[in-house]
This record gives sequence, structure tokens and C-alpha cells, in this order.
Amino acid sequence: MTTAVDVKGVESRYVLQTYRRQPVVFERGEGMYLFDDRGRRYLDFLSGIGVAALGHAHPALARALADQAATLAHTSNLYFHPLQGQLAERLTKITGMDRAFFCNSGTEAMEACLKFARRYWFTHGATHRTKFVAFTHSFHGRTMGALSVTAEEHYRAPFQPLVPGVSFASADDPAGLDRLIDESTAAVIIEPIQGEGGVRPAPAAIVDAIMAACKRTGTLLIADEIQSGSGRTGTFLRSGSIGLEPDLVALGKALGAGMPVGAVVLKDKVAKAIEAGDHGTTYGGNLLACRAALTFLDELEGGLLDSINAVSAYLFERLRAIAARSNGAVIDVRGAGLIAGLDLKADATPIMTAALERGLVINRTSSTVIRLLPPYIVQPTHVDEAAAILEASITAAL
Ligand SMILES: *Cc1c(COP(=O)(O)O)cnc(C)c1O
Repeated sequence: MTTAVDVKGVESRYVLQTYRRQPVVFERGEGMYLFDDRGRRYLDFLSGIGVAALGHAHPALARALADQAATLAHTSNLYFHPLQGQLAERLTKITGMDRAFFCNSGTEAMEACLKFARRYWFTHGATHRTKFVAFTHSFHGRTMGALSVTAEEHYRAPFQPLVPGVSFASADDPAGLDRLIDESTAAVIIEPIQGEGGVRPAPAAIVDAIMAACKRTGTLLIADEIQSGSGRTGTFLRSGSIGLEPDLVALGKALGAGMPVGAVVLKDKVAKAIEAGDHGTTYGGNLLACRAALTFLDELEGGLLDSINAVSAYLFERLRAIAARSNGAVIDVRGAGLIAGLDLKADATPIMTAALERGLVINRTSSTVIRLLPPYIVQPTHVDEAAAILEASITAAL
């Protein structure tokens, strides 16, 4: 696909300038690789921020979407269609939760979780239980509700006042968390591994403190698994494998494998408090979105989960070796499964830029962290290729 359009020029003139884009125009993808408008090939270790879990132009996904688009794409939630119930059944079985609600993005899933938690306490006559406790370095999205439980000041400051009654605990201070949660708290919200905040896995002590405080006060637990879930860490949800027992889980990103799909999976306890008309969406759970998610689950359960675990071990081995050889430039390697962060002594932007120039797509988050979120189809040979470029980029950027 070649066009005579001046992509950068027309964007800078007409698109609202809310993004600082990297200087590359991607036109096409194939498996683990992206191709730019000059035909240059890039190894993709970011998958569009954890979304393109099946890689690019995946044949089964492309066939399923083409078939669904040629059959029926959208009808709204005014009517039944055959796929939403199927997807809900698959998701509840794989997560151990009871029901699912569908929306179009991670942020919308978080927003729904916050509303469902409030609705739960309202239904139970506890209208004073409106507060939320979240964590420092958290990221939950940019709508007013999701932003209100997002910690980083630079996202929040221009948009005050936000939803009141939100406090932030440190994941390194279990006693502090315990003091923040009481019988006026509606829910505590945690990312099992913080993504945007710098690839920070929740410490075991905070997991124990959360579970104890929720038990003591009846506070609901919301797990934001938009980035850590949908198989990213080798199990469908990260929560269960670290001892969290959430009442509500927000999903997004990889779930649609490139189609915008968000979902909340929740326990019956909360689901029973929700009535028809309480919440809704026009697009959420439409046929095209459900078909994408069903195809994604087919692939995930058809062997990808095992592959993620095998490749992850090799990936982290290679990353630790790079850190050990970096003369102190890489101070920490964090993550699990196929989410990895290299914490650097200095700003990580030059390394991201150097990698892009060398044909590797990675990203920087939380200023000093290089984040890797490869597609689930990644193989050890891709890890070798990425590790070589990454190490050369670290050396070049220093
Ligand atoms: C990406 C992300 C979100 C927001 O999802 P969108 O699809 O961008 O709306 C929320 N929480 C976490 C943990 C995320 O990684």
C-alpha cells in the first residue's frame, strides 16, 4: 500500500496533537514484524502496547474478521446475537469468575469496575462506602473516573477536580495500606504488575495486606489486568498466581488481539447488585469484537500459553545477562511472562530511539524503564534478534 500522502504533514495540520509519535510510518505487518513506508522491516517487541498478541496479519484472525464483517458486524445491545454469551462463558471459565460485561477499551472496563463497586454498596444500603484506594505509580486510564484512581500527577493536574475520596497507598507499605482502608472504602484497585508505572510487580507483602484488609472491612477488590492479563504472564490472569482474589477484573489490550475489546469479569456477589439500565454501551460486545476475542482465546488455549512460559524463561535469562554486562547502566530487570522492564540509571528515551533506528520496536515508560511487550507468538530466535539489537542500542546510547 503506497500513497502519495504526506502522512506527517497532514497529521500535524489536522490531527489534535495529543501524541508525540516516533518518526516512522508503519504500513504493514506480518507475524512478529512491522514494515514502514520505505519497506524497512522492524521486529515488534511492543505489539502496539500489549495488544497485537497474535502478531500482525494473523491468518486465522484475518479470516475470522473478514467472515464476520461479511456476515454481521454490529447490532447494538438492544438485541441478542450468538457470540456475546459464548465469549462470556469462555471468559468466566478461564478466569473462574461468574459473569462478564463488554465494552470497547481498558479505560471503559476500569470505569465500569468503579461504577459497579459503587453500585454494589448502594444496593446494600451502604451509601457512605464511596471511597477508593489505589496505588502510587498506578495507571488505570484517562476518563474522569479512571483518571481519578491514576496516581501520576502529570496525567491528573490539568483536569482537577477529579472524583473525590481517592487515596493512594505505596505498594511497599503494607501497614500504610491497612490504615487507608476502612468501612467507608468501596474498593481497592491494583494492577498485579504495574505497566505504565514502570513494570513493577506487586510485592507479596502488599498482596497479603490487601487480602487481609478486604476481609476485615468487606472492601471490594478490583484487579486491573488490562495489561497483565489475557495470558500476558503465562496464566490468563496474573491475580490468582500471586494470591489476589479480586471481585472484579478489568480486561482489555490483548483480549481483542487488535480489535478494540474491553471486558469486566466479576463475581456473582457484585453481579447480583447490578440492574438492567445501570450501565451500558452502544458498541460493547458487538459481533466483530466478540469474534476477535473468541479467535484470540482459541489461539491462546490452543498452545500459546505454554509457549509464553517457555519463551519467557529464555527472554529473562537474556535480559539479565544484558544487565550484568551493562556496567551498571541497567539497574533492574522486572516482570513476568512476556512483560519485561529494564530499569536504567538514566532516561531510557535514547535507547528506545537507537533501537528503532536498528529495527527493533520497544518503548520507554516511567522515564527510565525500557518496556518489552512482545506478541505471544514470539520464539527464541526473535528473542536472540531483539537481545542483540537491545544490547547494541544500550551501548550506542550511553
Ligand atoms: C492500557 C491500560 C489501561 C487503559 O486502557 P485503554 O485501552 O488505553 O483505554 C488501563 N489500565 C492499565 C493497567 C493499562 O495498561
